[in-house]
Order: sequence, then C-alpha cells, then structure tokens
Amino acid sequence: MATDNTQVTRATFDEVILPVFAPAQFVPVKGKGSRVWDQQGKEYIDFAGGIAVTALGHCHPALVETLKTQGETLWHISNVFTNEPTLRLASKLIKATFAGRVFFANSGAEANEAAFKLARYYASKTHSPYKSKIIAFHNAFHGRTLFTVSVGGQPKYSDGFGPKPADIVHVPFNDLAAVKAVIDDHTCAIVVEPIQGEGGVTAATQEFIEGLRALCDEHQALLVFDEVQSGMGRSGKLFAYEHYSVQPDILTTAKALGGGFPVSAMLTTQEIAATMAPGVHGTTYGGNPLACAIAETSLDIINTPEVLNGVETRRQQFVSALKALDAELDVFSEIRGKGLLVGAELKPQHAGKARDILHAAAEQGLMILNAGNDVIRFTPSLIIEPTDIAEGMARFATAVKQVLAK
Ligand SMILES: *Cc1c(COP(=O)(O)O)cnc(C)c1O
Repeated sequence: MATDNTQVTRATFDEVILPVFAPAQFVPVKGKGSRVWDQQGKEYIDFAGGIAVTALGHCHPALVETLKTQGETLWHISNVFTNEPTLRLASKLIKATFAGRVFFANSGAEANEAAFKLARYYASKTHSPYKSKIIAFHNAFHGRTLFTVSVGGQPKYSDGFGPKPADIVHVPFNDLAAVKAVIDDHTCAIVVEPIQGEGGVTAATQEFIEGLRALCDEHQALLVFDEVQSGMGRSGKLFAYEHYSVQPDILTTAKALGGGFPVSAMLTTQEIAATMAPGVHGTTYGGNPLACAIAETSLDIINTPEVLNGVETRRQQFVSALKALDAELDVFSEIRGKGLLVGAELKPQHAGKARDILHAAAEQGLMILNAGNDVIRFTPSLIIEPTDIAEGMARFATAVKQVLAK
C-alpha cells in the first residue's frame, strides 16, 4: 500500500507544495454525490464541483465501475497504437456535435494549445504563414501554458515569464465593434468562451456570437469556442454553442468531460483536420484508454434528456434562493450565467468580499467558488439533489450574513 503512518495536514501544504495555490484550511478526504468530508470528519455540501469538473458528483457508481473495469483491462498504450475507448469516445463526440475529427489531451490548457496551433497551422497551409493574428478577449481564461495564458485576457497571468507568443490582440468581450476594428485578412482565429467562467460568469450575447461567426467567414478566420468550462452539459445543453445555433470551427472541452478524471478534447471539422499529418502535433497520455473509457461513461450519462433537462430545473432553484437572499439583504447586483454555471455579482458596496464569503461558507460546511473579487460562482454537480441545494443555500445565507455583519 502507498499509505504509511506519516501524518499530513493542511500545514504540510506550506512545507511541500509550490506556493501557487492558497487552498482552504481543511483537507477533504472523501466524497459521495454532492457531499464531501474532511480529515476531521466535518461534512460539506459541494457547490464547487472541483471547479465545474465533477459534473456527476463524487464517486458516481457508473464512473467508479468503468474506472475499475478499464483499470483491470488496459490503462495506457501510447499513440503508437490506437485503442477501443478512444475510438468509441471520438465517434460519440462526433455524433453529438458539429465535429468530424477529435484530438484528445489531458487538460483544458492542452486542448486549447492544440486548438491555437491548429488554427495557426491551418492558416499557414491554406493561406499564408503571415495569417497568424489571434483575436481574444479581456478577462478570458484559456489555461496556463505560455501560449494559452497569452491568449487569455488577464496579463497578470502571463507577465514575468519572458517573451510572449506574438500576434495576439485582446478586445473587450461582447463588443463586436471592437472586434471589427482589429480583424483583418491576417487574422487566423477568434478565440472565445461562449460563457466566460473564470472571468466573471458572463454569457456572450446572441448578436456577439453571430457577429463573430460572420466576421470569421468574411476574413477566412476560424472561430474557436473554448468550452472547457461551459461544455459537457454545464449550460443545460451538451455544449453552450447550441444555445446560440452558431457552429464553431474548433471547440475545446475538458473539465466535466472525465467527471474528475483528467481528459480533454479538441473537436474540429474534417476539412480543417485534413491539414494535419502524423508528427505535426502529439501527446503521450492524450487519448489513453483509461481516461477515454471514463469520459465515454460520463458522456453517455450527461448526454441524456434527464440530465440535461434537470440542469435548468436546478438552476431555477439556485436563482430563486439567491433572489430571496438578495430581497432580504440587498447584496447582489446581478445573477447571471447559464445552466449550472451560476454567478452572483456583489453590489459595489460589498465589492471585494467574494473570498471572505468563500471562507465563511467553508466554516458553515459549504464549498463554493469565486470568479474574480466580486462574483460568487456555483458550479455544482449537474445531478445534485434538490435537498442538497436547499440545505447548501441555507448555509450560504448564514455565511453571507456573517460577512455582511463584520
Ligand atoms: C479551466 C479552464 C481552462 C484550463 O483548463 P486546465 O485543465 O486547468 O488546463 C481553459 N479554459 C477555460 C474556459 C477554463 O475554464
């Protein structure tokens, strides 16, 4: 067994882990559905879902079953060989979407890295090597590799790491005129989250998404949707682009794809994929049978009317509880997002208190997230029990009241 008698606690974190995170003061050890327990046995209701990852809750029996079965069959074989789970999962993703070809990787950043490289490569092969401009948006988040932080719209994440990849332009989100002002025939792609997650839980408007599609078509640029957070049922549709009836050329998905097991995918059309050839891009772990088997089970469960329709019902429960709290405390300026990507923005007089509310919620036995300093974010399991929502919102109300009383 890998376990021994060495006692690890939250204090161990400060001694052994690179200090790029500031985790909560408790250490979760066990989860079931939308409940989590820490080292002291204290119970939490999970409205964070591992940041929109555990879309079927913790230790869903079907995912555990696949993990065990595939774990006793074949874990890894490399891309020198193909495997059945990767082929089945790709076929199902193609059947469920606009796509004709799939590339698997292990994280959202890697799927986006592949997407941005593909957009540049496609433009250089079909047009010109100078068609390399990428248009992206303020506050966007696309991952932490150097290319993806550079396309992301928060310079604080990309500063300090030396020269950044060039020819990336940022303009305000939901501002079509700003995109028009910078797009030209040297643009290879527009990269956008249909619902900005980390940047504050803001959905793109219908006109914006339609306008981006038209501008891309006019300038032979590719439209790339980063659905790492908004995809896999989170919005109430399998992918958020379905709300807009606008198809991308490339789409990335990760977070909920494996329900907690690391796996990501980049989807594109057959025509765009045809510019790639063996050796142009690659990965060691991407598309491994264990990850793909688990993602296949996750997709089979999420892509059903029961689960997808249940998202909107659960959203209504969150929104009405938040509205009731707001009626009592006058604390939120807006409740937004789509499906179970719910954002509650604090009124200006409470600006900057999102983290305090997170800490107070943890004290009350509730896991929630922020998105910036002023937005509380909820990304629970898509199948969270209504009783868990009710109890969690009661704990949330207590936490908010505590913070406002300070
Ligand atoms: C989380 C996220 C990423 C990065 O995913 P990782 O798995 O952390 O690399 C990229 N894009 C969006 C929209 C995300 O929410």
